[in-house]
Amino acid sequence: MQEGHPLAYISRHLKGKQLFLSIYEKELLAVVFAVQKWRHYLLTSHFVIKTDQRSLKYLLEQRLNTPIQQQWLPKLLEFDYEIQYKQGKENLVADALSRVEGAEILNMAMSVLECDFIQQIQAGYDSDIELQELIGELKLKPQARKHYSWSQNIVRRKSKIVVPHTPLLRGKILDWLHSSGSGGHSGRDAMHQRVKGLFYWKGMSKDIQAFIRACPVCQQCKYDPAASPGLLQPLPIPDTIWSDISMDFIDGLPKSFGKTVIFVVVDRLSKAAHFIALSHPYTAASVAQAFLDNIFKLHGLSRSIISDRDAIFLSEFRRELFSLQGVALNYSSAYHPQSDGQTEVVNRCLETYLRYMCSDRPHLWSKWLPLAEYWYNTSFHTATQMTPFEAVYGQQPPQHLPYLPGESKVAVVAKEFTRT
Ligand SMILES: [Zn+2]
Repeated sequence: MQEGHPLAYISRHLKGKQLFLSIYEKELLAVVFAVQKWRHYLLTSHFVIKTDQRSLKYLLEQRLNTPIQQQWLPKLLEFDYEIQYKQGKENLVADALSRVEGAEILNMAMSVLECDFIQQIQAGYDSDIELQELIGELKLKPQARKHYSWSQNIVRRKSKIVVPHTPLLRGKILDWLHSSGSGGHSGRDAMHQRVKGLFYWKGMSKDIQAFIRACPVCQQCKYDPAASPGLLQPLPIPDTIWSDISMDFIDGLPKSFGKTVIFVVVDRLSKAAHFIALSHPYTAASVAQAFLDNIFKLHGLSRSIISDRDAIFLSEFRRELFSLQGVALNYSSAYHPQSDGQTEVVNRCLETYLRYMCSDRPHLWSKWLPLAEYWYNTSFHTATQMTPFEAVYGQQPPQHLPYLPGESKVAVVAKEFTRT
């Protein structure tokens, strides 16, 4: 707008998956799309985004919690903007809906990260004498210090953002990567892997240790990992992923959107897991359908299944699964009444996670399940020396690194990143 008159319009049809986004997410998509389209005009000065989506105003200002936000909000990090809420006149229903929706998202939010943290990092450079010196050198001679680089007013070490010596800022980062949905109050090693995937500072490991020791949630919900039976494995270790799995059920949960059971499926080699919410009572047939929908379509049929359920249930399950695939098979399955302790370990992790994340609103647990799964699969495992994600896909999970244009060496990749 210039003197009350619009200067330009932009519109785009939603397609594919985008059609199923919530109103809030569609609005956010529109904001990201518009801001990136006019990036060159907007980058240099402060600007105002007006939206009739009330929740957007608060979320963009303060919080970075849902996967959608974590994917899209970093794209706005380089801009200097404010969001103003503008009452929607035409679409009162959508407005009312979006307000309800926003309220729910806000209730589920656990940790707070100021979106201007890149600016805070930059501001912190001014008071860090050591980094000042380093920046000075890099400005004069980009190759002056091995592993370090200076671009977009950010110091990086091996592509990780160097965080200045500002305890408050470091605390905020640790809080984000420890207490948020994908942080999941992980222990020291797993959390260290997560933080050093994005940031660098000297003494990070000690800071993390101190942070966890001081975390009130961790202190309250602590369990004894020494009691874990995970190492008592009488079964041979499989040699291919998703060929040998264990399944288990976590029962007796409070009703959450009609669900009361979590179906846990773990790949015994990679330790990767899927968590599926089921309603009670579940049968071999309904479990087989859930398996087809969530496991089979991704990983195919597994050779062996270990479960704490009885042999009758397991053979029923197998039969149902085959019939869903349209094949009638005569097969025999050997039944060994044993457990490798695999799902017990995962179950405990999952239960602890849910206790940490939603003990104040237990009936929301099913909403946390996808985040719990992501958190679990992207946590570093000492047994495999990698995350389950890496074991399955052969690469690190995508990091929610705030994207700064010009950072990528390959132009095509940069273009992919900026695409909304
Ligand atoms: Zn904690």
